[in-house]
Amino acid sequence: MTVPPTPRAAASGVRAVVPPRKVVRPSAEAPPADPRCAFRPVPLAGDRPSSCGEGRAVRVPCGRRARRKAARGSPGGVGRRTARKWPTAGSARGRNQYWTKLFICRYVAAVFPSHAPPLVTAPAETSVLALLLTAGPLSRVELARRTGLSSTAVTKAARPLIDDGYLHELPPERTAPGAGRPVNPLAVTADREFFAGVKVSADALYGAVCDLRAGLRATADRPLGEDRGPAAVSALIRELVDELLDARPEFRDRTRRLGIAVSGDVDRAAGRVRYSVLPGWRDVPLAETTARATGLAVVVENDVKALTAAEHWFGEGIGTEYFALVTIGAGIGSGLVVNGRLITGAYGVAGEMGHLCIDPAGPRCHCGQAGCVEAIASSGAILAAVRAGTGREDLDFDGAVRLAREGDPVARVVFARAGRAIGTGIGILVNLLGPERVVVTGEGLETYDLFGEHIKDSYAEHCFKAAARCPLTLRPLPWEEWARGAAVLGVQALFP
Ligand SMILES: [Zn+2]
Repeated sequence: MTVPPTPRAAASGVRAVVPPRKVVRPSAEAPPADPRCAFRPVPLAGDRPSSCGEGRAVRVPCGRRARRKAARGSPGGVGRRTARKWPTAGSARGRNQYWTKLFICRYVAAVFPSHAPPLVTAPAETSVLALLLTAGPLSRVELARRTGLSSTAVTKAARPLIDDGYLHELPPERTAPGAGRPVNPLAVTADREFFAGVKVSADALYGAVCDLRAGLRATADRPLGEDRGPAAVSALIRELVDELLDARPEFRDRTRRLGIAVSGDVDRAAGRVRYSVLPGWRDVPLAETTARATGLAVVVENDVKALTAAEHWFGEGIGTEYFALVTIGAGIGSGLVVNGRLITGAYGVAGEMGHLCIDPAGPRCHCGQAGCVEAIASSGAILAAVRAGTGREDLDFDGAVRLAREGDPVARVVFARAGRAIGTGIGILVNLLGPERVVVTGEGLETYDLFGEHIKDSYAEHCFKAAARCPLTLRPLPWEEWARGAAVLGVQALFP
């Protein structure tokens, strides 16, 4: 379908072709809402709904203003925005707005069970909270300098977040000896809200609870049974999340978002897993089913992209505008950050480094192409090549690794080829994106001694000129870190 060009497209003489919008409709067979669901109407301020109260859990009064109101016995101590934005009762117009808004909230909750509104929407609040999350504590002066806001705007943006308990002031400190008035740096109150995360792997679920600053507070895992279907896995996710949230009373009280990380082609906006080879799923509405099962707002994302987001905000990528993360192991993938934002691309598959074709005459990949990086360098591809080369069909991956370490020439050639494929793929990625640094992670790092040199050599060969200055950082991340990455999806969902 061809539509009139956008202004930018018109300027460049290119006509924009926009695919039809995907509309998620409620299933006719949708089960009744779970009684524990956070999306039921919850009176937050007196008996008034919030600005979208269906998505908000009962809020704990905190902050100075809330404590003062609570001390006076005022119900307005809970839910700042509701008290400020909601029209006062008494006028016919106000009552009409009330019921219209309540209807919209219930409709949204019924149609989109995984929906929860962001915490901040105003640009100033968004900038201040994001900066404090990744680089706090900071004084208001420093916040103003880094965000480009005025000091007044910073103070105004921070005040509601302090009232809501998301920020707090640290004791006064002097910025330098002999400096003027001491300042009170602002810091994020990490345990104001918690976030659950689940990583779905080929044979197990790994779960974690994180605080606002992505600090790991609890972890658990659960093996997948024989049934790897979406219904069975959703039920297991619910059990795992229940176990995690029952670990501490405050987890249950202050957790309202769940992030789920799955390998493959994931449509985050629609909450669907379009294709995942590890559990063997196609077009699964995972966000909707798990939101109904757990009563939490759910974000589903590709696992590598979730890990990239976590590393960018809370790990090796802090402060970078251009950043990439590459995973090696059972699959080869990458996540890309451009202009400080994780790139998903128009169709959600940006960064699929594993399916760069680097050898058209190479082995066939499960995606249908030949010679993909993943078809040469994934652990399954390495095993298949070692088996074919040695004629030993009884070998498992550990056996192939052992052969290579013992000096078997066939096995060593296979690992060297895999290393060159990975290095070539990273080189192409760096030439296209120009990241400040690339983090290499995944279970494949355990065999880095067998192909690390080949990765580095091939990477250096394929980088164009100054792009080769981009350092490769090896970062072994256990499975819990992948679950943490999933939980960070919830932290990021606080933002618009
Ligand atoms: Zn492929």
